[in-house]
Amino acid sequence: MKPLEERIATQVNNLPRSGIRDFFELVLGRDDVISLGVGEPDFSAPWHIREAAIYSLEKGHTSYTSNLGLLSLREEIAEYVDQKFEVSYDSKTEILITVGVSEALDLACRALLNPGDEVIYHEPCYVSYSPSIAMSFGVAVPVETKVEDEFVLKAEDVAAKITDRTRLLLLNFPTNPTGAVEPLDELKKIAQLAVDHDLIVISDEIYSELLYGEDSGMKIGHHTSIASLPGMKERTILLHGFSKAFAMTGFRLGYSCAPQVLTEAMMKIHQYSMLCAPIMSQNAALEALKNGASEVEKMRKAYARRRNLMLKRFKEMGVPCFAPGGAFYVFPDIRKFGLSSKEFALRLLEEESVAVVPGDAFGAAGQGCVRACYATGYDQLEIALDRIEAFVRRLQS
Ligand code: PLP
Repeated sequence: MKPLEERIATQVNNLPRSGIRDFFELVLGRDDVISLGVGEPDFSAPWHIREAAIYSLEKGHTSYTSNLGLLSLREEIAEYVDQKFEVSYDSKTEILITVGVSEALDLACRALLNPGDEVIYHEPCYVSYSPSIAMSFGVAVPVETKVEDEFVLKAEDVAAKITDRTRLLLLNFPTNPTGAVEPLDELKKIAQLAVDHDLIVISDEIYSELLYGEDSGMKIGHHTSIASLPGMKERTILLHGFSKAFAMTGFRLGYSCAPQVLTEAMMKIHQYSMLCAPIMSQNAALEALKNGASEVEKMRKAYARRRNLMLKRFKEMGVPCFAPGGAFYVFPDIRKFGLSSKEFALRLLEEESVAVVPGDAFGAAGQGCVRACYATGYDQLEIALDRIEAFVRRLQS
């Protein structure tokens, strides 16, 4: 019999292991560690949202839904997206409920890429972008963003990567892992490039409720979706979900908003692979959108306070740290210590029992930084920061 390793499909064999996973195997079973590693809210989903999931079960609502998802939820999403993103979608034909943004991203790539098609995206970025492209037989074309530029994605750098094989632009603002928010003037230039070169844009806006400043000419709490810019709705797949702002990671619920033809293509794959998203999660999401705004704001305020603590303490330690406009990560620059991101993170874990993620887990452009997630209780953060301070003092002495 041929060895089982040789039965694995080439594109799967070629996938690298996630740098986050590698790192977190080291943390498993160590209860002394304060983890600033996983990008997940420390809050449980608000109680009224959990209750909606419980009621769904109690009422015996345990069936499949329409492949697109519950119409009542799609209607609520259409209203939410209209108000928040200033783009209107037809709830019957342009919205697809998915198993997290993760599934929506996979569907968008699989629906749109032919082998060899190129996808431009910015790095450092969420770990699943390049694997999702590769699994769809596409070619990942990263554009480096730099700490010196506050991780702004420059339209001129995007333009330089466009070829006649470019099909998609994949954007994520606010960005995981940097927390960067794209300035409006640059976002407009990128939109113009998409129009000029007839590109489809996948815009992952999963952190769009978690904004902290007036950076980039945006009003506090106001997020500009590229889909809302002139000429963009017809070429954008807007991805959003409930994991981050509503603290609903385990519900596994997301959605895409896109022109009918694209939604239909994504739905075709979804109906054969997933069939539909779980009905209990859909009912919980309906409640989240109807009555969850004040809880989201409470959590955002808690994150804002923690973000300020992180920035203050890194500044006091003399560790340069870009002030992120959104999400719940800081991405301090550790180059001055002469260690690679991985060495820094490993030693911090070994010597002070604090877990952060090496920046290059998010692409080569993240080398020289580490990602610290502040979706952790304030008191725990203070202890973690004391330990980080002790560590960097030792490195400096
Ligand atoms: N997109 C980004 C940028 C993320 O950071 C994450 C999770 O960390 C996801 C998508 C996945 O989200 P979901 O839980 O909705 O699948």
